[in-house]
Amino acid sequence: MSKEIAHSERAHAVLSASASQRWLMCTPSVRLEEQFPDSTSDFAREGTLAHEIAELKLRKYFIEPMSQRTFNTRLNKMKKHELYQEEMLKHTDTYLEYLKGISLSLPSAPYVAVEKRINYSAYAPDGFGTVDCLMVGGDTLYVTDFKYGKGVAVSADNNSQMKLYALGAYLEYSFLYPIKTIKLAIIQPRLNSISEFDLTVKELLAWGDEMKPIAKIAFDGNGDFVPGEHCKFCRAKSKCRARAEEFSALADFTAIKPPLLTDEEVGQMLERGQHVESWVKALKDYALGQCLKGNEIPGWKAVEGRGSRSFVNQDKAFAHLKEKGIDEALLFDRVPLTVSKIEKVLKKKEFTSLLDEAGHIVKSPGKPTLAPAGDKRKSVSPDASADFS
Ligand code: SF4
Repeated sequence: MSKEIAHSERAHAVLSASASQRWLMCTPSVRLEEQFPDSTSDFAREGTLAHEIAELKLRKYFIEPMSQRTFNTRLNKMKKHELYQEEMLKHTDTYLEYLKGISLSLPSAPYVAVEKRINYSAYAPDGFGTVDCLMVGGDTLYVTDFKYGKGVAVSADNNSQMKLYALGAYLEYSFLYPIKTIKLAIIQPRLNSISEFDLTVKELLAWGDEMKPIAKIAFDGNGDFVPGEHCKFCRAKSKCRARAEEFSALADFTAIKPPLLTDEEVGQMLERGQHVESWVKALKDYALGQCLKGNEIPGWKAVEGRGSRSFVNQDKAFAHLKEKGIDEALLFDRVPLTVSKIEKVLKKKEFTSLLDEAGHIVKSPGKPTLAPAGDKRKSVSPDASADFS
């Protein structure tokens, strides 16, 4: 994951390199998704923190002389982040070691840039991004991306994000260095994945010339909508008609000739069907959001989901139980029992008198959830939804 996902940067790059696989396939998507708010996730924030730690390590090794004390002070500050995990140190080391390996294999010290802003607008209008690490050694340009995600291993093979970065870097550095070869690498340590891909400058520039008119079409919001795997990260994915029609066709079994499906049809349906669940989830998230804003989604409403119970003070509640003659062995199962499990152990009557009636149980309201209009629970009002949020 490149730091390009940092929202302040991404907001300005309509044709972002990280989304290039999508806008090269579905050119009108970048303009369509402008109508939808950008959102961040803990995974993205976690990735940003891991990048900051990696950047600090790379700077210390390659760029600026830094005392161990300064390094530790900066690192300790990052360790205080709520999303910090100890494993970030190990994974960022893997990334640093990879780059050290390249650097030490070169006959002389390479030029190195870390978290380098790159402009590729000569090929894609207003295009820019931030490359995690650029290195130039001899006649080779190394473009390396650190991805902290552990969902799917991303291949560097003909990767359009990496090639856009390489184009921008080549334009910037070819005046200073005799670059002939480009080496792309994606380091994804949590998946033990290091993917590399080499191409010549001639091949890179030929790809750039081929891609350039498509980028212009995408920037202008023209072309055909083409649904596919790439819809997963599109902000328009819940309301996009092209995507909906793709799945509606899947549900229209009359469109398929009876009596039996051919193996080819089975293959096609499985191919399209594997994304149905995430598509329906995106629809539900959108509809719930609308209901909570007070907008109508015909046939649906937001209701209070299942609530949960927790102890006001677990130690006190347990002490109280022990005082009342409840055997401690009943209360522990390696980890403390949940409210529901204790109710099961004590049985309803004892649970009610010893915990519930004595004020040791607090019931929290459930999170709003989407339900059919006929659901017997009452709708969550827009005002109440503000309390939930
Ligand atoms: S959801 Fe898919 S088909 Fe629709 S605009 Fe986005 S990428 Fe294109």
